[in-house]
Amino acid sequence: MLRLPQFQVESPDTVEGVVAALQRHAGARVIAGGTDILPNLKHFLDTPPVLVSLARVTALRGLQRDDAAGLLRIGAGVTLTQIAEDAQVRALFPSLAHAAGIVASPVIRNMATIGGNVNLDTRCRYVNQSEFWRGSIGGGCLKSEGNVCHVVPKGRNCVAAMSSDNVPVLISLDANIVLVGPEGRRVLPLADYFHADGVAHTLARPGEVTVELQLPLPAGPRRARYTKWSVRRSIDFPLLSVALRFDLATDSAHAEVLAAKVVVGVLGAKPRVVTRLDEALGKPLSDPAVARIVSEATHAQCKPLDNVPYEAAYRREMLRVYTRRGVEAMVAEG
Ligand SMILES: Cc1cc2nc3c(=O)[nH]c(=O)nc-3n(C[C@H](O)[C@H](O)[C@H](O)COP(=O)(O)OP(=O)(O)OC[C@H]3O[C@@H](n4cnc5c(N)ncnc54)[C@H](O)[C@@H]3O)c2cc1C
Ligand code: SF4
Repeated sequence: MLRLPQFQVESPDTVEGVVAALQRHAGARVIAGGTDILPNLKHFLDTPPVLVSLARVTALRGLQRDDAAGLLRIGAGVTLTQIAEDAQVRALFPSLAHAAGIVASPVIRNMATIGGNVNLDTRCRYVNQSEFWRGSIGGGCLKSEGNVCHVVPKGRNCVAAMSSDNVPVLISLDANIVLVGPEGRRVLPLADYFHADGVAHTLARPGEVTVELQLPLPAGPRRARYTKWSVRRSIDFPLLSVALRFDLATDSAHAEVLAAKVVVGVLGAKPRVVTRLDEALGKPLSDPAVARIVSEATHAQCKPLDNVPYEAAYRREMLRVYTRRGVEAMVAEG
């Protein structure tokens, strides 16, 4: 049985109280649903003296459309079940409802929050193991107790994988993240929140808490989809993931593509936004050339690593397949 390390818990009921508690206790960590941080603590990947719980912060639980600002606002404490089932999210952002609805299992989605999902720790086959297991490979790695990387042996940076199902989708939908910390409130594009270091892969400043995700309301017709490959259809984290979004001239799969966005997860610590998709613009979405252009660009620009189970070369081939299938499924919607 894996035991938790000892820690104190504080449960403020305001965001300001959370920020103050984080400042009061060096090394304190936030806990929301606990579905990621508690397993990691059981693996002794961290031993914070204090967990600051968001359970009583009701201000983080709002999910509302703000027409004046042209946004859907999702509080960091909204659960993945709520997002998957919400009528507005399903109508306006179906790829997000889908991604939230296939995380883990119903019990986990009832506890798991979107704030926790966005701040999910990076994952690696060499680190998400018990302390005993890590001892058997010579005492861990850069992200645990050691000073080497087993994925890139001469690497200086940890390349553990950003494995959130929702992050690629949120970035494909141009989401912003709202943070509150000791220096106040700031808003930044979610795409800019991550950097390529699996040990500390977000740009959150000390004492900063995620309070909201903001999604710009669609300006016109759009198709969006999330495709995930995992070994089992439930419980498992993605071993590759692709979020697709196409803005169209009219609401038809035969309409011309005005804008295309593709975001890939589970590569390194940072999601990748695929570039050079211009060749697909102006073509009908239903033109097979669009699926080919987008899937070839994704395959060319994304190189999975041996940081999660299954061979990197196989996952790279599957990236091409899953991207193409994602476009074809959007066309099949008519
Ligand atoms: C068996 C199993 C399967 C899983 N499968 C998947 C999967 O398929 N896809 C997937 O995406 N995830 C998966 N997860 C991971 C996890 O359940 C989700 O990512 C979940 O959304 C995490 O949210 P949480 O509220 O439980 O986060 P917590 O565990 O409470 O926190 C996670 C991290 O985020 C930080 N944090 C939480 N809230 C905030 C905030 N508001 N501001 C700043 N930092 C914050 C915490 O300090 C911690 O570092 C799985 C977990 C388990 C146990
Ligand atoms: S990528 Fe390297 S340093 Fe990072 S967790 Fe995996 S083995 Fe450790």
